[in-house]
Order: sequence, then C-alpha cells, then structure tokens
Amino acid sequence: MPAAPMNILLVEDQLSVRSSLKRELEHHGHTVLEAETAREAIEAFKRGRPDLVLMDVVLPEEDGYWAAREIRSVEGSDWTPIIFLSARDSELDLWRGIEAGGDDYLVKPASPVVLAAKLHAMSRLQRMRRQLIDTSEALRDANERLAHLTTLDDLTQLGNRRGFDERLHASVQQCARDQQPLSLLLCDIDHFKAYNDALGHVQGDACLKRVGEVLRTVCRRPLDYVARYGGEEFGLVLPNTPRSGAMTFARALQHVLAASAEPHPTSAFGVVTLSGGITTVVPDASTTAQSLLLRADEALYSAKTQGRNRFFSFEMQVDTVTHLYGAGTAG
Ligand code: GH3
Ligand code: MG
Ligand code: MG
Ligand code: MG
Repeated sequence: MPAAPMNILLVEDQLSVRSSLKRELEHHGHTVLEAETAREAIEAFKRGRPDLVLMDVVLPEEDGYWAAREIRSVEGSDWTPIIFLSARDSELDLWRGIEAGGDDYLVKPASPVVLAAKLHAMSRLQRMRRQLIDTSEALRDANERLAHLTTLDDLTQLGNRRGFDERLHASVQQCARDQQPLSLLLCDIDHFKAYNDALGHVQGDACLKRVGEVLRTVCRRPLDYVARYGGEEFGLVLPNTPRSGAMTFARALQHVLAASAEPHPTSAFGVVTLSGGITTVVPDASTTAQSLLLRADEALYSAKTQGRNRFFSFEMQVDTVTHLYGAGTAG
C-alpha cells in the first residue's frame, strides 16, 4: 500500500540525484519542496512545514546533521520525520544521524522500493502520533470538565463546599500578596426547617434554588464567588472588598431577596429571609481560611440571636439593621 500523499522537503545538493528523487516522489503522489544547502533547508522548513524531510548528509557549508538539529529546535513540540540520505554507509554515520535527531537512514542510491517502504512507515508513525495527541487532548478536556463538575452543587448550580474551600483558600493567598481586603460572608436561611415542615421538601428544594439565583445576581464582580456551603447555608467570597463594601453588598442582597418576596408561611417576616455573618481582613501570612470561617460563623450566630433577617460584621460589631452592639449590651 502506498503512503498517503505527503509534502516532502528534499535536501540534496547534487542536481541529478535531486531530480531523480523528486520524480520518484512525485510519481507516488507526493509534493516536493527542494533545498540545496542546509540553510535553505531551514528556510524551506519554516515556510513550508513539510510532513517529512529527506536530508542529504554531505552538503556545502553546514551538513545535514546540523540541519536536522536546527529543524528539531524550530519545530517545538511538533515532530517531523527526518530520513537521512547518504552515499556513506558506515555504522558511525547511521549513529550520528540518529543522534542529530534523524529517524531513519537511506544509503544512496536509494532503491525505489526501500524508499517507498520507509515513507510509508514514517507516515504511519506520524498518523499514530497525531491520534495519540488528539486522544490526550480530549482526555485533558474531559478532566477539566470533570474537575469543574466536582466543585458544583447539583441543586443550585452554584459552587459546592469543595469549590468554596478551594476558592477561599486561593483568595486568602491572593489578597495577602496584593495586600487587599478580603470579605467572607456566610449566610443561612431563617426558619427553614419550619418552611420544609409547612410546604414539604420539594418546595424546600425549589426555594433553595431561587435563593441561589438571588445570590448569583448580586455577585456582579468577576472575582465574587458564591457557593452552597451546606444544607440551607451559602458562602460568598468577595476579594478586594473592604468592610464597608461588604456591608453595602449585604444590604443589596437583602434588598433583592426582599423584592423577590418568596412567601414563608410560618415565619414572622412572612417571606424567606437570610441571616449572615461577615468578616473582613487584609490577610497576612498567619491568616487561614479556617480562622475566617470561625469569625464569619460567630458573626452569623450573632445575626441569628439578634433577631435574624440581618447581616452582622465581626470586625465592625454592627449589623445591617444598624444596631451598634457595645460590650455587654449584645444579648
Ligand atoms: P434558623 O433560622 O436558626 O437557621 O432555623 P432553621 O430552621 O433554618 O435551621 P435548622 O438548622 O434548625 O434547620 C435547617 C433545615 O434546613 C433542616 C432541613 O429541613 C433544611 N434543609 C437543609 N438542607 C436541605 C435541602 O437540601 N433541601 C431541603 N428541602 N431542606 C433542607
Ligand atoms: Mg551531498
Ligand atoms: Mg443552618
Ligand atoms: Mg437556617
């Protein structure tokens, strides 16, 4: 079976040899780029990006070994088969050719049958290599999609606990490097057990989805991140956001949630509400995701005990209902 048509770079300084090889190759359906010297060969290689190179060893000035090394360095992660052509047939020449980056060796004058067989073998190797590359690229894409899926929450399509932990950790590092404030919000749906008890789990799940949508709409900045942290709890990571900005964000969030007016049959508020804890730091080397979570959780607990439907800032000791809690007055 003949080799599939290839674009072949033929490097040969002797006109008679070059012409007869060219005829032979064209006879088999290949197209031929010609070069007489090593430098011409490099230029032709860069311009024509051939599928295969037939390279004479003895050339004026730089030899074929030099040209092969140059080709290997310009082709990058690509691979073009190189077959050396030489009148010499010592084993040392063969070894030098392979060492210079060649893939095979033909002794001149090459028999048409041997030449055709070698071209065929090389084109098959190259096809297999391309298939391998395609397969590994497909595998890498699949792995990326899979990695993304492992950080997504099925119900809300927000991040999940794992995605949240990864993002929080990365944001602590980034904000420490940039010396920027990082705000973390943990929020929890108020009286959600009672909601489920009144309307059932299916309605409960639908409510979680809608709250998730509200959170998604308020996360406007590209670096803002929201995840379902667990059950009816959500976590938001807001890089480059100071305390006051986080409070403004929380108020906007409460505003949008109130506007969605999701009925809650057994809550005194009449609608679904959130309580939240906020912590804001400019992280340093000692800051951990864990320490931020503890503070946000403590602030969330304060918001719950102060009456729910509010966000409480750990550092400011103030909530979105604008009560100031001095030492001893917090109940
Ligand atoms: P609080 O205001 O103090 O947060 O009261 P709560 O009732 O919201 O809190 P609690 O921790 O007592 O109950 C949380 C409830 O959230 C328990 C469960 O019924 C509900 N829940 C948690 N995860 C899911 C879920 O995936 N789907 C549904 N439908 N309900 C859930
Ligand atoms: Mg020569
Ligand atoms: Mg809870
Ligand atoms: Mg709750």
